[in-house]
Amino acid sequence: MTARVLDGREVAARIRERVRSEVSSLLEAGTPPHLVSLQVGQSEPSRAYLQSQRRACVDLGILYTHVQLDEESTDRQLLAHVHSLCQNPEVTGLIIQLPVPRRLDVRKAYRAMDPTKDVEGMHPANLGAIVTDEGGMNPCTAVAVLQLVRESGVLLRGAAACVVGHSDVVGKPIGLMLLQEDATVTTCHVHTRDLARHTRHADVLIVAAGQPGLVGAEHIKPGACVIDVGINYLAGREGPVGDVRFEEASAVAGFITPVPGGVGPVTVACLLQNTVRAAKAQRAGAEAPVRRAEGTP
Ligand code: NAD
Repeated sequence: MTARVLDGREVAARIRERVRSEVSSLLEAGTPPHLVSLQVGQSEPSRAYLQSQRRACVDLGILYTHVQLDEESTDRQLLAHVHSLCQNPEVTGLIIQLPVPRRLDVRKAYRAMDPTKDVEGMHPANLGAIVTDEGGMNPCTAVAVLQLVRESGVLLRGAAACVVGHSDVVGKPIGLMLLQEDATVTTCHVHTRDLARHTRHADVLIVAAGQPGLVGAEHIKPGACVIDVGINYLAGREGPVGDVRFEEASAVAGFITPVPGGVGPVTVACLLQNTVRAAKAQRAGAEAPVRRAEGTP
């Protein structure tokens, strides 16, 4: 079998065209969406992500500002920036670029965000909303993964889905969103014994471990839909590589995403989608009549 390659750039282009028309309406109404990206220090993976964010925003007419904090910044300084950006009515969306230096507590920064401006869906209220299926701002990478699975046409209801990786920002939200689609979900991680024993049964296999080439033919059920979330940079090699050994996996899988050109561009498109949703929700909130608290005259 030769897998059908799910082209992330094509899926992203479709999402972006929808976003473009929503941005036009916001611009006409005089309420431009404004995305701010807050970064502490520098890192190779976020450099590429930043570039594509900026390019995409400029292309669609979304205002984009990058705020760069010093590598040595403290939790307190990061929180102060988060607070002031969230209180600024001209900022409609905020991203904290990962990774941040290890000594910082990024969870504290997420908790300090206004959940309605949290376009990456990392505030506990937004993550919690996935559990209870209450809308909110869903994490972009998880939404992108789901979009690509839908592209394959594989039905998630009743399917065996396996997620390799259980980080708070990627693996766990993906697992929860697959569960909301009524898939039977197995989550594997660094302590899982005999990874292939679990992955081999999956109709839908999502790999988000950050381990180049972790998954190969022996891990894949023939005909499965394989989504490679991994973005890894190897010394002496141009561009990123995924967590899946693409050539051999393609010979077994039914559907597969490439790296680059798979989950990455769709994640950026989903970020733009969330940015517009956030701007629209804030505009609607600002236009709504102020309600008196119960019991006040
Ligand atoms: P992380 O380091 O926080 O988590 C890695 C996860 O993989 C952990 O749950 C760990 O237990 C698991 N893991 C590590 N080694 C393993 C092994 N040998 N076997 C099984 N599980 C193993 O990373 P993250 O932030 O969750 O990101 C994962 C990958 O996804 C990275 O490569 C990252 O760059 C990439 N990423 C891609 C996008 C995108 O849009 N395509 C977005 C975010 C992250």
